[in-house]
Amino acid sequence: MEENMEGMMMNMPLRISSILEFAKTSYPEVEIISKMSSGEVHRTNYRDISIRSKKMANALLELKVSLGDRVATIAWNSYRHFELYFAISGIGAVCHTINPRLSSEQLVYIINHAEDKVIFLDLSFIKLIEAHLDQISPHIKFVLMCEPSEVPDSNLPNVICYEDLINSGSEDLVWPVFPEDTASGLCYTSGTTGKPKGVLYSNRSTVLHALLASVTLPDSFAVGRKILPIVPLFHANAWGIPYSAPLTGSSLVFPGQSLDGKSIYQLLDQFEVFSAWGVPTVWFGLLDEIKHKGVKPKGLGEMIVGGSAAPRSLISEFEKMGVTVVHAWGMTETSPLASTGRLTIPYTALPEDQKIDLKMKQGRKVFGVDLKIVDDEGNELPQDGENVGNLFVRGNTIAKGYFNNEDASKAAIDKDGWFETGDVASIDKEGFLTLTDRSKDLIKSGGEWISSIDLENCIMNHPEVENCAVIAVPHEKWYERPLLIVVPKAGCMPESKNLLEYLEGSFAKWQLPDGVVYEEELPFTATGKVSKLSLRKKYEDFNFKKGKNIK
Ligand code: AMP
Repeated sequence: MEENMEGMMMNMPLRISSILEFAKTSYPEVEIISKMSSGEVHRTNYRDISIRSKKMANALLELKVSLGDRVATIAWNSYRHFELYFAISGIGAVCHTINPRLSSEQLVYIINHAEDKVIFLDLSFIKLIEAHLDQISPHIKFVLMCEPSEVPDSNLPNVICYEDLINSGSEDLVWPVFPEDTASGLCYTSGTTGKPKGVLYSNRSTVLHALLASVTLPDSFAVGRKILPIVPLFHANAWGIPYSAPLTGSSLVFPGQSLDGKSIYQLLDQFEVFSAWGVPTVWFGLLDEIKHKGVKPKGLGEMIVGGSAAPRSLISEFEKMGVTVVHAWGMTETSPLASTGRLTIPYTALPEDQKIDLKMKQGRKVFGVDLKIVDDEGNELPQDGENVGNLFVRGNTIAKGYFNNEDASKAAIDKDGWFETGDVASIDKEGFLTLTDRSKDLIKSGGEWISSIDLENCIMNHPEVENCAVIAVPHEKWYERPLLIVVPKAGCMPESKNLLEYLEGSFAKWQLPDGVVYEEELPFTATGKVSKLSLRKKYEDFNFKKGKNIK
């Protein structure tokens, strides 16, 4: 074979620290605003964040944190959490963002599994850790993210105050150079089944992800535009915002701890935020507040929705207000942005109804991510919008395994090196991805698939329904049949007959749920998704004829 001719271009390792260096020189005055737990509003900018990150990096080096060491955070979205992203990864250590919504058992498991050396934590999480001190290493240092005057009494060992620590470090630092594959971040997935699994990002994957997100979502990312990341910094890097925003000079408003509709409305309105990012649950809260106020927050022009499917009613209500809804799909394992639904020519010229049809899909893949769908035997299926299969992804921003977990790594990657998402989807000829379900949630009845997501999306539009879930219940004859679980709106009790009639127009008769049960609330996983696992367990012996569990 002939030898290739090499290009004559420089090759510099991609590093996260270069993102903040760039923002410091190009967008020094762009503001970073944080709503603190005390209620105060804190304002800083990329210049000061850069200085403080260097000081913290030097302080961490003094604490003997070195290449590859895991440094954890348990914190809400704020400027301190943001600057840690750069201070930790900038020196080649690993920023391990811990999700405080995990169960105690999972929390202890991941602190031990990651072998965290230092844990930074917001004061509101002290009790969470105190309760498990006997189960974690006594050598961990705890840095409380506050001023010296705010440090409370606690049982934590090795306590350091954040502002003392940062002030002990010099701002003189040249960010070290190391290979671009050096690990930079660690985030455990909530694991609807089994133990949490750690996704270990690299400097290279993170910089590439920041670039591709900035290209794919240009309306959000623009100098002078403000973004409100409601998605937490502890969940898949807040969908990459901490890296894309400094790259594009967009301003950030960190919401802190209060994520209810009223608080979010107030922040959006006060700071005239253009783009807000979060899961559907958050937007329902905001929608209620907008209805209550009778007017949308000043400046709000766009919402990025992901994490779970955005229902039609949500999309259309916001679009009617003049807020562009962009539906995105991804996973912790995909950095996370893998597809986005921003409409381009020729779709922008479609009638509103058809645009909403398209926006309900999970969008088209971002550059650098390949998608394939396969049947249960692993055969690739045509991307024709009709065939539905297991979704696999591949690319420079996709995990190739899990941190220190050989079994899970092996199970996740197919023989050709693709990552199995556990989602079931179709992809049409124009590249639009439609998730029909998680593979374990799909209901198989008489050899045919029934999409629980489709049923849920439809019933969510029923005026008396607050929340719902459709699960598969084992069935002697049909293998599985769907059960609809409904949380009625306050003061309502929709009849099951009425609910099923509501679905009739949109589904074949055999696809309709065989039963309806009512709950006061649904169980949620740590990342805010309805826990189908616990619902399936609760109703595994459900008897459709009698309308109750057999046991
Ligand atoms: P996580 O790693 O916790 O972010 O969860 C990723 C999973 O959330 C995906 O595999 C999907 O099952 C689900 N998910 C994320 N975005 C969407 C979306 N836009 N629509 C439906 N499901 C989604």
